[in-house]
Amino acid sequence: MPWDDLTGHEDAIDRFRRSIVRNRLASTYLFVGPAGVGKHTFALKLAQALLCSANPPQELEACGNCPSCQQVSAKTHPDLILISKPADKAFIPVETFIGDREHRRQRGLCHDIGLKPFMGGRKIAIIDDADFLNQESANCLLKTLEEPPPNSLLMLIGTSEQRQLSTIVSRSQVVRFSALSNEQVANLLNRMNDLESDLPIDELAAASNGSVTLAVQLSESEVCEFRKQLYSYLTEMDPQWNGFTKAVIGFVDAAGKDGATKRARLALIGDLAIEFYRQGFLAATGSRSEGVVMDAVMANAVDSFVQNSDGLSGEELAERCGVCIHRCGDFQQQIAANVSPANAVDAWLRDLSRLGRGLALV
Ligand SMILES: [Zn+2]
Repeated sequence: MPWDDLTGHEDAIDRFRRSIVRNRLASTYLFVGPAGVGKHTFALKLAQALLCSANPPQELEACGNCPSCQQVSAKTHPDLILISKPADKAFIPVETFIGDREHRRQRGLCHDIGLKPFMGGRKIAIIDDADFLNQESANCLLKTLEEPPPNSLLMLIGTSEQRQLSTIVSRSQVVRFSALSNEQVANLLNRMNDLESDLPIDELAAASNGSVTLAVQLSESEVCEFRKQLYSYLTEMDPQWNGFTKAVIGFVDAAGKDGATKRARLALIGDLAIEFYRQGFLAATGSRSEGVVMDAVMANAVDSFVQNSDGLSGEELAERCGVCIHRCGDFQQQIAANVSPANAVDAWLRDLSRLGRGLALV
């Protein structure tokens, strides 16, 4: 698993190379950036390079073959701690950090990371879903961040700094990951043997906003169709119109029976809407970057959205997009916190309809 097969993020690799050569590796890093651009893969590759027993850590280049490298690939390395939010939970449970009631402070990440490394020269923890740390878990983690055990490395992975607690951000080195280019996404999709899609790869890549995860989701024709429908409603600035709530819930229910699958689909709907308003914002402020090719569905939707805003200045339209993006973020948090989907969707669409028309929320 050498760096060669990571797509993009060369500047982040360089940054870590420089730090390690100067012996300035920090003990806590916070990786932020859109979902599906390779943050987790990057963290695993970094762990592998640091734990490799054939190459010295200063080279930051895993050999890929030694037992250590193989155990990192298989996610079974005894000095590598991997944590993520369980699908059926709204947050990463506090037990993950300090053990359950019977084993308080004798188990969990905060305990394990302080143990002497078994094999490699260090202990490494990767915390996915850092957007879902609640206050209690963050408090447990803080002590570890303040007094990191020697030779420990913690990588927290989230989507944005704004979604992290400030106490965590202030104790971390932030590494920002940007979206991949359409070409990079297309290359990655081409390498996936089991990807089946009605859409050509380059169209999927153009619709992906630089996220491989989203591109894969859009390869399902049902998701692609829904995206079209959602955008046609959002362009009307009145997405609650004509029973659209029902259609949204139908799409969520079609994902599967269990709650986690439904929540993942609701989160996807939030992401799609955020991307729409983000593109609307860029169009309204004339700050769309040159050279970024959008797919026809988004391009047409944004054009109609701007036309429908007849009479609004660019600044006013941008402001409305901003408040709608904020409301979409709240919607996603409600979903993560297990609010009933029907209620959350209904209130969200109602609010978007009001905010899109410049009305105050009731
Ligand atoms: Zn190795």
